[in-house]
Amino acid sequence: MKPDSEKRRAVVIGSGVGGAGISALLQRAGFDVLLLERNAYPGGKASTFEQDGFFYDTGVHYNAQGPNGPLALLNQRVQGDLQWRVKDPYARLVYGDKAIDLPQGMRSLKFRYEFATKILKVRPRNALGIFRAYRKIVGTKTEKDAAPYDNIPLKDFCDQYTDDKLFHGYISWFCMLGLCIPYTEASAGEFMLAMSNYVEKASVCYPKGGFKAIPEAYIKALERDGGKVIYENPVKRIVVKDGKAVGVEADRFYEADVVVSNAGIQKTLSLVGEENLPQEYVKRMKGLKYSYSAVTIKYLLDKPVFSKPSIVHYDPDTDLVAAYRDIEAGKVPEDKDLTIWLAIPSNSDPYLVPPGKQLTLAFTMGGPPELENAPLWDKILDRLDKKILCLHPEMEKHIIRRIKTTPKTSAEIAGRETGDIIGLAQRYDQVGRNKPSPATPVKNLYLVGCSAGGRGIGTEQAGDSALKVSEKILKDLATQGSTSWVESPIAAPRST
Ligand SMILES: Cc1cc2nc3c(=O)[nH]c(=O)nc-3n(C[C@H](O)[C@H](O)[C@H](O)COP(=O)(O)OP(=O)(O)OC[C@H]3O[C@@H](n4cnc5c(N)ncnc54)[C@H](O)[C@@H]3O)c2cc1C
Repeated sequence: MKPDSEKRRAVVIGSGVGGAGISALLQRAGFDVLLLERNAYPGGKASTFEQDGFFYDTGVHYNAQGPNGPLALLNQRVQGDLQWRVKDPYARLVYGDKAIDLPQGMRSLKFRYEFATKILKVRPRNALGIFRAYRKIVGTKTEKDAAPYDNIPLKDFCDQYTDDKLFHGYISWFCMLGLCIPYTEASAGEFMLAMSNYVEKASVCYPKGGFKAIPEAYIKALERDGGKVIYENPVKRIVVKDGKAVGVEADRFYEADVVVSNAGIQKTLSLVGEENLPQEYVKRMKGLKYSYSAVTIKYLLDKPVFSKPSIVHYDPDTDLVAAYRDIEAGKVPEDKDLTIWLAIPSNSDPYLVPPGKQLTLAFTMGGPPELENAPLWDKILDRLDKKILCLHPEMEKHIIRRIKTTPKTSAEIAGRETGDIIGLAQRYDQVGRNKPSPATPVKNLYLVGCSAGGRGIGTEQAGDSALKVSEKILKDLATQGSTSWVESPIAAPRST
């Protein structure tokens, strides 16, 4: 091992999943890492809070690939102590007055047949088109497979196989839950990769200890290996000399050979100072769009009411495009268009609640993430509360407390100007070759997290980014290569 004085110094800004992950990876690769976090706690949007002995997450969190995905791979590389709780079936899907349990991977042909005929109610004349679309989606195993579809809107992809309204409705609903943007805007390639991982890995799950256990496992590994984290220490400026990042200004100046920002693209632009960046880069980064937002209600219950790890309400009459239109016009969507996901994390990890109690987290879409939409969010929360109690009246008398969050909460937690769920939107014009490069025009300054470098859903995208960006940094430094950022033109939608 090299003495500390000979090690390269890396400063990482922000301890979201991406920032915490890359800190641990770089420390393990021989850097001397300092992680600076503006909050008093780690995790950014993947944080867990405590109230009356109940531990609840920022949002309504579940992982798609868990022990078989990038977060587990990262944990293995840094020898962290992250553990997963995988349940099978992982959710109950409620449609109308009926319900079906969702098995991991939904692999059995019998289940798929029942799903297609009872829930999707596939009409025989549309069956072949739907089957072909499904086969294409789940056959998308690698980024190379996804590449021809990256820059096509998901709706256009579906149109090429079928105009079946119920199939479109189902894909639109699933896209909203996974990528958190309308399927008219989502990248088909990104959706296909996420969906095929979900089927192939069959590991929808919850991390033991709540979502904060993910960044905490990485930070523990960072500290064990000699790195350091300082909380409540916001970075005010990234210091640039001769086109190169040389450190950051926080409570004092911290010198660095490499600076990695998990603060998001907009914030990073302001920390660097636009005068240090090419105008075309600033213009492109400022024009990027963010994922939609969510409102949530955490119900602290005095006794267990639900037996499943998660309950999703699916109404084939839901028109999400109409719901998005309503929200954009400043209206609360109609009841039927308000999609509800109820997670019951204490059924996966009983230690999240005091003995004999239960925690239920409810989620619905809050529309575009810009904070000027805030007046609508309280009204959506009221509607969400009413709809849940109407669907689950048995819950009402057991509610000890409701904790409500709006996109303003996620913006505050992540230190961003928008209350997006994911980070950068996985739109057809912002993924694959159009995704911002983790390298910036400032030498030795990189982006990490859901802004750049990764693929997948939410926290898994942030973990994937940490894995890939750490490798890029090591390669760039080993070859003394320039940290070139590749500006690619925005691709027009293409047809398959
Ligand atoms: C309601 C909701 C539900 C969600 N559900 C799921 C789910 O079910 N499954 C899933 O996988 N994902 C889910 N997500 C998404 C997931 O939480 C995020 O995509 C992911 O955590 C983003 O990680 P990140 O690394 O990009 O950074 P962020 O979480 O954005 O973290 C950025 C960090 O940088 C810090 N920072 C910012 N500026 C500074 C500064 N100047 N100095 C120091 N520190 C700074 C912030 O304080 C923060 O800690 C959900 C999110 C929300 C809001």
